[in-house]
Amino acid sequence: MSLISKAAKEHILSRKELVEVLSGGFDDELFSAADEVRREFVGDEIHLRALIEFSNACARGCLYCGLRAGNRKLERYSLEGGEILDFTRKAVSEGYKTVVLQSGEGVYPNSKLVNVVCEIKKLGVDVTLSAGEKTFEEYALLKEAGADRYLLRIETTDRGLYKRLHPPVGELASHTEPGPRRGHPDMPFENRVRCLKDIRELGYEVGTGSLVGLPEQTLESLADDLLFFKELDADMIGIGPFIPNPDTPLGSAEGGSFTLALRMMSLTRLLLPDINIPATTAMETLEPNGRLIALQSGANVVMPNVTGDDYRRKYEIYPNKVSAGGNIREQIAAIGRRVADTVGKSKRFISRKA
Ligand code: SAH
Repeated sequence: MSLISKAAKEHILSRKELVEVLSGGFDDELFSAADEVRREFVGDEIHLRALIEFSNACARGCLYCGLRAGNRKLERYSLEGGEILDFTRKAVSEGYKTVVLQSGEGVYPNSKLVNVVCEIKKLGVDVTLSAGEKTFEEYALLKEAGADRYLLRIETTDRGLYKRLHPPVGELASHTEPGPRRGHPDMPFENRVRCLKDIRELGYEVGTGSLVGLPEQTLESLADDLLFFKELDADMIGIGPFIPNPDTPLGSAEGGSFTLALRMMSLTRLLLPDINIPATTAMETLEPNGRLIALQSGANVVMPNVTGDDYRRKYEIYPNKVSAGGNIREQIAAIGRRVADTVGKSKRFISRKA
Protein backbone atom coordinates (compact mmCIF):
# COMPACT_ATOMS: atom_id res chain seq x y z
CA MET A 1 0.00 0.00 0.00
CA SER A 2 1.40 3.44 -0.85
CA LEU A 3 1.97 6.01 1.88
CA ILE A 4 -0.89 8.07 0.53
CA SER A 5 -3.43 5.21 0.49
CA LYS A 6 -2.33 4.34 4.00
CA ALA A 7 -2.84 7.90 5.20
CA ALA A 8 -6.22 8.13 3.45
CA LYS A 9 -7.35 4.93 5.13
CA GLU A 10 -5.77 5.04 8.58
CA HIS A 11 -5.52 8.84 9.05
CA ILE A 12 -2.08 8.63 10.60
CA LEU A 13 1.50 8.55 9.36
CA SER A 14 4.76 8.55 11.28
CA ARG A 15 6.93 11.65 11.42
CA LYS A 16 9.34 10.01 8.98
CA GLU A 17 6.55 9.16 6.55
CA LEU A 18 5.15 12.69 6.77
CA VAL A 19 8.58 14.10 5.93
CA GLU A 20 8.74 11.80 2.93
CA VAL A 21 5.40 13.05 1.61
CA LEU A 22 6.33 16.67 2.34
CA SER A 23 9.49 16.23 0.27
CA GLY A 24 7.33 15.88 -2.85
CA GLY A 25 7.17 12.99 -5.28
CA PHE A 26 3.64 12.03 -4.22
CA ASP A 27 1.93 15.27 -5.17
CA ASP A 28 -0.70 14.16 -7.70
CA GLU A 29 -1.69 11.18 -5.59
CA LEU A 30 -1.69 13.29 -2.41
CA PHE A 31 -3.85 16.12 -3.76
CA SER A 32 -6.44 13.81 -5.30
CA ALA A 33 -6.59 11.58 -2.21
CA ALA A 34 -7.22 14.68 -0.07
CA ASP A 35 -9.99 15.74 -2.46
CA GLU A 36 -11.50 12.26 -2.22
CA VAL A 37 -11.33 12.14 1.59
CA ARG A 38 -12.84 15.63 1.75
CA ARG A 39 -15.77 14.50 -0.40
CA GLU A 40 -16.30 11.33 1.61
CA PHE A 41 -16.16 12.97 5.06
CA VAL A 42 -17.49 16.51 4.66
CA GLY A 43 -19.18 16.43 1.27
CA ASP A 44 -19.32 18.88 -1.61
CA GLU A 45 -20.65 21.85 0.30
CA ILE A 46 -18.39 24.84 0.80
CA HIS A 47 -18.90 27.07 3.81
CA LEU A 48 -18.45 30.79 3.28
CA ARG A 49 -17.37 32.82 6.30
CA ALA A 50 -17.60 36.61 6.29
CA LEU A 51 -14.22 37.87 7.48
CA ILE A 52 -14.32 41.14 9.40
CA GLU A 53 -10.85 42.52 10.11
CA PHE A 54 -12.03 44.73 12.95
CA SER A 55 -8.73 46.13 14.26
CA ASN A 56 -5.12 46.14 13.12
CA ALA A 57 -3.84 47.46 16.45
CA CYS A 58 -1.43 45.00 18.00
CA ALA A 59 0.83 44.82 21.03
CA ARG A 60 2.86 41.84 19.77
CA GLY A 61 6.17 41.70 18.02
CA CYS A 62 5.82 38.67 15.68
CA LEU A 63 8.74 39.07 13.26
CA TYR A 64 6.77 37.93 10.20
CA CYS A 65 3.61 40.00 10.63
CA GLY A 66 2.89 43.47 9.28
CA LEU A 67 0.57 44.23 12.19
CA ARG A 68 3.46 43.92 14.69
CA ALA A 69 3.66 46.75 17.21
CA GLY A 70 7.03 47.89 15.87
CA ASN A 71 5.66 48.65 12.39
CA ARG A 72 5.23 52.44 12.50
CA LYS A 73 4.34 52.62 8.82
CA LEU A 74 0.96 51.04 9.31
CA GLU A 75 -1.97 53.36 9.87
CA ARG A 76 -3.90 51.81 12.75
CA TYR A 77 -7.67 51.47 13.02
CA SER A 78 -10.16 49.85 15.38
CA LEU A 79 -13.80 49.60 14.37
CA GLU A 80 -16.52 50.61 16.78
CA GLY A 81 -19.15 48.03 17.70
CA GLY A 82 -21.71 49.76 15.49
CA GLU A 83 -19.47 49.53 12.42
CA ILE A 84 -18.78 45.85 13.04
CA LEU A 85 -22.53 45.29 13.29
CA ASP A 86 -23.14 47.18 10.05
CA PHE A 87 -20.66 44.93 8.22
CA THR A 88 -22.27 41.90 9.86
CA ARG A 89 -25.80 42.90 8.82
CA LYS A 90 -24.61 43.40 5.27
CA ALA A 91 -22.93 39.97 5.29
CA VAL A 92 -26.06 38.35 6.71
CA SER A 93 -28.18 39.97 3.99
CA GLU A 94 -25.79 38.48 1.42
CA GLY A 95 -26.40 35.01 2.87
CA TYR A 96 -23.42 34.47 5.17
CA LYS A 97 -24.14 32.19 8.15
CA THR A 98 -20.90 32.80 10.03
CA VAL A 99 -18.83 35.90 10.70
CA VAL A 100 -15.17 35.74 11.63
CA LEU A 101 -13.91 38.64 13.72
CA GLN A 102 -10.15 38.99 13.36
CA SER A 103 -7.70 41.50 14.84
CA GLY A 104 -4.26 42.11 16.24
CA GLU A 105 -3.65 41.22 19.85
CA GLY A 106 -3.70 42.78 23.26
CA VAL A 107 -5.19 46.19 22.38
CA TYR A 108 -8.91 45.96 21.56
CA PRO A 109 -10.76 45.86 24.90
CA ASN A 110 -12.27 42.46 25.63
CA SER A 111 -15.42 43.97 27.14
CA LYS A 112 -16.09 45.80 23.87
CA LEU A 113 -15.71 42.57 21.94
CA VAL A 114 -18.05 40.80 24.36
CA ASN A 115 -20.75 43.39 23.59
CA VAL A 116 -20.24 43.01 19.85
CA VAL A 117 -20.56 39.22 20.07
CA CYS A 118 -23.80 39.57 22.07
CA GLU A 119 -25.29 41.85 19.43
CA ILE A 120 -24.18 39.68 16.50
CA LYS A 121 -25.67 36.56 18.06
CA LYS A 122 -29.08 38.26 17.96
CA LEU A 123 -28.81 38.12 14.17
CA GLY A 124 -28.78 34.32 14.26
CA VAL A 125 -25.34 33.64 12.81
CA ASP A 126 -22.33 31.79 14.18
CA VAL A 127 -19.40 33.83 15.44
CA THR A 128 -15.76 32.83 15.06
CA LEU A 129 -13.14 34.87 16.88
CA SER A 130 -9.51 35.25 15.87
CA ALA A 131 -8.16 37.85 18.24
CA GLY A 132 -5.12 36.18 19.69
CA GLU A 133 -3.97 35.15 23.13
CA LYS A 134 -6.20 36.01 26.08
CA THR A 135 -6.75 34.87 29.64
CA PHE A 136 -9.08 31.98 30.48
CA GLU A 137 -11.44 34.52 31.98
CA GLU A 138 -11.55 36.60 28.79
CA TYR A 139 -12.18 33.54 26.61
CA ALA A 140 -14.92 32.49 29.08
CA LEU A 141 -16.67 35.87 28.85
CA LEU A 142 -16.62 35.75 25.06
CA LYS A 143 -18.01 32.20 25.10
CA GLU A 144 -20.78 33.27 27.47
CA ALA A 145 -21.59 36.11 25.10
CA GLY A 146 -22.25 33.46 22.47
CA ALA A 147 -19.04 33.03 20.47
CA ASP A 148 -18.96 29.62 18.79
CA ARG A 149 -15.42 29.15 17.51
CA TYR A 150 -11.91 30.43 18.10
CA LEU A 151 -9.00 30.46 15.68
CA LEU A 152 -5.49 30.67 17.08
CA ARG A 153 -2.73 29.34 14.91
CA ILE A 154 0.19 27.79 16.73
CA GLU A 155 2.24 29.22 13.79
CA THR A 156 5.06 26.67 14.31
CA THR A 157 5.62 23.88 16.81
CA ASP A 158 9.39 24.22 16.48
CA ARG A 159 10.16 25.65 19.93
CA GLY A 160 13.46 27.26 18.92
CA LEU A 161 12.01 28.85 15.79
CA TYR A 162 8.91 29.95 17.71
CA LYS A 163 11.09 31.71 20.24
CA ARG A 164 13.12 33.52 17.59
CA LEU A 165 9.99 34.67 15.77
CA HIS A 166 8.26 35.98 18.88
CA PRO A 167 10.72 38.17 20.79
CA PRO A 168 9.60 40.14 23.85
CA VAL A 169 8.14 43.46 22.74
CA GLY A 170 9.36 45.47 25.68
CA GLU A 171 8.15 49.04 25.26
CA LEU A 172 4.74 49.01 23.67
CA ALA A 173 4.29 50.88 20.45
CA SER A 174 2.82 54.32 20.68
CA HIS A 175 -0.39 53.36 18.93
CA THR A 176 -1.46 51.06 21.73
CA GLU A 177 -3.91 52.50 24.18
CA PRO A 178 -3.28 52.42 27.91
CA GLY A 179 -5.05 49.54 29.57
CA PRO A 180 -4.90 47.28 32.57
CA ARG A 181 -3.41 44.25 30.88
CA ARG A 182 -1.48 43.30 27.81
CA GLY A 183 -1.50 39.54 28.08
CA HIS A 184 1.99 38.11 27.84
CA PRO A 185 4.15 40.51 25.85
CA ASP A 186 6.92 37.93 25.72
CA MET A 187 4.62 35.35 24.11
CA PRO A 188 6.04 32.03 25.24
CA PHE A 189 5.06 28.93 23.23
CA GLU A 190 3.55 27.41 26.35
CA ASN A 191 1.08 30.27 26.65
CA ARG A 192 -0.20 29.72 23.12
CA VAL A 193 -0.74 26.04 23.90
CA ARG A 194 -2.45 27.01 27.16
CA CYS A 195 -4.79 29.26 25.17
CA LEU A 196 -5.73 26.41 22.82
CA LYS A 197 -6.45 24.14 25.79
CA ASP A 198 -8.59 26.82 27.46
CA ILE A 199 -10.52 27.35 24.23
CA ARG A 200 -11.21 23.62 23.99
CA GLU A 201 -12.19 23.36 27.64
CA LEU A 202 -14.66 26.22 27.28
CA GLY A 203 -16.51 24.39 24.52
CA TYR A 204 -15.48 26.41 21.49
CA GLU A 205 -14.83 24.77 18.16
CA VAL A 206 -11.03 24.93 18.14
CA GLY A 207 -9.08 26.20 15.16
CA THR A 208 -5.34 26.32 14.80
CA GLY A 209 -2.78 26.02 12.02
CA SER A 210 0.65 27.05 10.92
CA LEU A 211 2.76 29.12 8.60
CA VAL A 212 4.69 27.25 5.93
CA GLY A 213 8.08 28.37 4.67
CA LEU A 214 9.31 30.36 7.66
CA PRO A 215 13.07 30.97 7.67
CA GLU A 216 14.92 27.90 8.96
CA GLN A 217 11.72 25.85 9.22
CA THR A 218 12.43 22.21 8.38
CA LEU A 219 10.23 19.48 6.90
CA GLU A 220 10.64 17.65 10.21
CA SER A 221 9.16 20.59 12.07
CA LEU A 222 6.27 20.78 9.58
CA ALA A 223 5.65 17.06 10.22
CA ASP A 224 5.55 17.91 13.93
CA ASP A 225 2.96 20.61 13.21
CA LEU A 226 0.74 17.97 11.57
CA LEU A 227 1.16 15.61 14.52
CA PHE A 228 0.33 18.51 16.85
CA PHE A 229 -2.95 19.16 14.97
CA LYS A 230 -3.78 15.48 15.28
CA GLU A 231 -2.95 15.34 18.97
CA LEU A 232 -4.92 18.50 19.73
CA ASP A 233 -7.81 16.92 17.80
CA ALA A 234 -8.56 20.30 16.22
CA ASP A 235 -11.90 21.13 14.61
CA MET A 236 -10.48 23.52 12.02
CA ILE A 237 -7.00 23.98 10.57
CA GLY A 238 -5.80 26.97 8.54
CA ILE A 239 -2.51 26.62 6.69
CA GLY A 240 -0.85 29.32 4.68
CA PRO A 241 2.49 30.07 3.07
CA PHE A 242 4.60 32.70 4.80
CA ILE A 243 4.71 35.81 2.58
CA PRO A 244 7.50 38.26 3.50
CA ASN A 245 6.39 41.77 4.38
CA PRO A 246 9.02 44.45 3.61
CA ASP A 247 7.98 46.48 6.67
CA THR A 248 8.99 43.66 9.03
CA PRO A 249 12.38 42.24 10.10
CA LEU A 250 11.76 39.26 7.78
CA GLY A 251 11.15 41.48 4.77
CA SER A 252 13.99 40.04 2.73
CA ALA A 253 13.39 36.41 3.70
CA GLU A 254 12.57 33.95 0.96
CA GLY A 255 8.99 33.09 1.86
CA GLY A 256 7.02 29.89 1.57
CA SER A 257 6.06 27.99 -1.53
CA PHE A 258 2.49 27.43 -2.60
CA THR A 259 3.12 23.75 -3.29
CA LEU A 260 4.59 23.01 0.13
CA ALA A 261 1.68 24.80 1.82
CA LEU A 262 -0.71 22.75 -0.33
CA ARG A 263 1.05 19.52 0.68
CA MET A 264 0.61 20.51 4.34
CA MET A 265 -3.06 21.28 3.76
CA SER A 266 -3.74 18.02 1.92
CA LEU A 267 -1.92 15.99 4.55
CA THR A 268 -4.02 17.73 7.21
CA ARG A 269 -7.16 16.50 5.40
CA LEU A 270 -5.84 12.93 5.34
CA LEU A 271 -4.96 12.98 9.05
CA LEU A 272 -8.07 14.84 10.23
CA PRO A 273 -10.70 13.82 7.66
CA ASP A 274 -13.83 15.39 9.18
CA ILE A 275 -12.62 18.88 10.14
CA ASN A 276 -13.11 22.23 8.39
CA ILE A 277 -10.18 23.45 6.31
CA PRO A 278 -10.16 26.88 4.67
CA ALA A 279 -8.60 27.68 1.34
CA THR A 280 -6.61 30.56 2.82
CA THR A 281 -6.16 34.05 1.44
CA ALA A 282 -2.37 33.59 1.49
CA MET A 283 -2.76 30.64 -0.91
CA GLU A 284 -4.70 32.81 -3.36
CA THR A 285 -2.26 35.69 -2.94
CA LEU A 286 0.70 33.50 -3.90
CA GLU A 287 -0.85 31.65 -6.81
CA PRO A 288 -3.52 32.70 -9.30
CA ASN A 289 -6.45 30.34 -8.68
CA GLY A 290 -4.73 29.17 -5.50
CA ARG A 291 -8.03 29.14 -3.68
CA LEU A 292 -9.70 26.88 -6.24
CA ILE A 293 -6.71 24.56 -6.30
CA ALA A 294 -6.90 24.36 -2.49
CA LEU A 295 -10.64 23.62 -2.64
CA GLN A 296 -9.84 20.71 -4.94
CA SER A 297 -7.04 19.43 -2.70
CA GLY A 298 -8.84 19.04 0.62
CA ALA A 299 -10.29 22.45 1.60
CA ASN A 300 -14.02 23.05 2.22
CA VAL A 301 -14.19 26.63 3.56
CA VAL A 302 -13.58 30.11 2.08
CA MET A 303 -13.39 33.30 4.13
CA PRO A 304 -14.11 36.33 1.93
CA ASN A 305 -13.21 39.68 3.42
CA VAL A 306 -16.32 41.82 3.87
CA THR A 307 -14.77 44.92 5.46
CA GLY A 308 -14.06 46.61 2.14
CA ASP A 309 -10.88 47.64 0.35
CA ASP A 310 -9.84 50.50 2.66
CA TYR A 311 -9.67 48.37 5.78
CA ARG A 312 -8.35 45.37 3.86
CA ARG A 313 -5.40 47.45 2.67
CA LYS A 314 -4.69 48.68 6.18
CA TYR A 315 -4.93 45.16 7.57
CA GLU A 316 -1.65 44.49 5.85
CA ILE A 317 -0.28 41.32 7.40
CA TYR A 318 1.66 40.78 4.16
CA PRO A 319 1.71 42.72 0.86
CA ASN A 320 -0.86 42.38 -1.95
CA LYS A 321 -3.32 40.48 0.22
CA VAL A 322 -6.26 39.62 -2.04
CA SER A 323 -9.92 39.80 -1.19
CA ALA A 324 -11.97 36.69 -1.82
CA GLY A 325 -15.00 38.59 -2.90
CA GLY A 326 -16.75 39.01 -6.17
CA ASN A 327 -17.34 35.91 -8.15
CA ILE A 328 -16.51 33.32 -5.51
CA ARG A 329 -19.98 31.77 -5.78
CA GLU A 330 -19.59 31.37 -9.54
CA GLN A 331 -16.13 29.90 -9.11
CA ILE A 332 -17.51 27.38 -6.65
CA ALA A 333 -20.28 26.41 -9.04
CA ALA A 334 -17.76 26.10 -11.86
CA ILE A 335 -15.85 23.38 -10.02
CA GLY A 336 -19.06 21.45 -9.40
CA ARG A 337 -19.45 22.35 -5.75
CA ARG A 338 -22.15 24.29 -3.91
CA VAL A 339 -22.32 26.89 -1.17
CA ALA A 340 -23.82 25.51 2.04
CA ASP A 341 -26.87 27.16 3.56
CA THR A 342 -26.14 25.96 7.10
CA VAL A 343 -23.77 27.43 9.69
CA GLY A 344 -21.35 24.64 8.86
CA LYS A 345 -20.06 23.56 12.23
CA SER A 346 -17.11 21.20 12.07
CA LYS A 347 -18.28 17.57 11.69
CA ARG A 348 -15.44 16.62 14.01
CA PHE A 349 -16.86 18.94 16.68
CA ILE A 350 -20.38 17.55 16.28
CA SER A 351 -19.31 13.93 16.56
CA ARG A 352 -17.02 14.61 19.52
CA LYS A 353 -19.92 16.18 21.39
CA ALA A 354 -22.34 13.38 20.52
N1 SAH B 1 -3.53 38.14 16.20
C1 SAH B 1 -4.39 37.10 15.75
C2 SAH B 1 -4.62 37.16 14.24
C3 SAH B 1 -3.36 37.24 13.47
S1 SAH B 1 -3.47 37.44 11.74
C4 SAH B 1 -3.86 35.75 16.17
O1 SAH B 1 -2.73 35.65 16.61
O2 SAH B 1 -4.56 34.76 16.03
C5 SAH B 1 -3.86 35.81 11.22
C6 SAH B 1 -2.72 34.96 10.72
O3 SAH B 1 -1.98 35.59 9.70
C7 SAH B 1 -1.66 34.62 11.74
O4 SAH B 1 -2.08 33.61 12.61
C8 SAH B 1 -0.49 34.20 10.86
O5 SAH B 1 -0.42 32.79 10.71
C9 SAH B 1 -0.80 34.85 9.51
N2 SAH B 1 0.32 35.70 9.06
C10 SAH B 1 0.96 36.66 9.76
N3 SAH B 1 1.97 37.19 9.04
C11 SAH B 1 1.98 36.54 7.85
C12 SAH B 1 2.80 36.61 6.68
N4 SAH B 1 3.80 37.47 6.59
N5 SAH B 1 2.52 35.78 5.65
C13 SAH B 1 1.47 34.91 5.72
N6 SAH B 1 0.68 34.80 6.79
C14 SAH B 1 0.92 35.59 7.85
